[in-house]
Amino acid sequence: MSLERTRIVLVGTTHPGNIGAAARAMRTMGLARLHLVAPACDPGDAKAVARAAGASELLEQARVYPDLASALAGCRAAFGLSARPRSGRQPQHDLRPAAEAAAGEGGEGDLAWVFGRERTGLTNAELDRCHALVRIPADPAYQSLNLAQSVQLVAWELRMVGTGAAAGPAEADPPASVDTLERFFEHLEEVAGRVGFLDRHNPALTMRRLRHLFRRAQPREDEVRLLRGLLNHVLDPRRWRG
Ligand code: SAH
Repeated sequence: MSLERTRIVLVGTTHPGNIGAAARAMRTMGLARLHLVAPACDPGDAKAVARAAGASELLEQARVYPDLASALAGCRAAFGLSARPRSGRQPQHDLRPAAEAAAGEGGEGDLAWVFGRERTGLTNAELDRCHALVRIPADPAYQSLNLAQSVQLVAWELRMVGTGAAAGPAEADPPASVDTLERFFEHLEEVAGRVGFLDRHNPALTMRRLRHLFRRAQPREDEVRLLRGLLNHVLDPRRWRG
């Protein structure tokens, strides 16, 4: 995965200075694509421009989205940056191995690195949109880095593990994209609800476990089509036999 195909996604950022400093952190490591999800401040604020220094172009080109789902459209995977270990969630990797895995990725679509709010991080629903959680290993007694500094470390690692090198040859059967998987999860939830399966369980928890299971399996596009064919079949009694 090349640096050009890497998105840095900042969710709900409160301090314009952090957006500017994140832009500068990215620019120094050769990253250019800054995505802002519902920023809680004005990214064009003078504090942002001042902290961006020579990287103000990234601020001008930053794209703003109403929610994380739209910022991740067209991505093949998203890594959620989280300092806190979250139980019952997708696997949490340390930054170095996660960056190495990203460097080895080929195929279609971008890779996104998703950063949370200064005070509260990412919500559960936002974490659910990520394929894996990534932790910057820090002093266990105080692990919460400043937002822009965590962007700097991620950008540095991506540069060091050689994502700047030309992307490798595309895989013959790349895993399904984020969009394909999201449509599948929506379909699965709808069908599980219609057949009364979700009602008997804790619906959010059940869906979260199903999401983890299918993400771990890394299905290909054709395999997701197969699963969705099965779901369509389940909802259509005319196709049932016996
Ligand atoms: N108090 C918040 C942390 C906010 S720091 C919380 O408990 O979640 C702002 C963002 O920086 C976080 O959402 C995360 O994306 C990133 N971040 C800060 N320290 C980190 C660490 N040690 N590992 C991974 N991400 C970190």
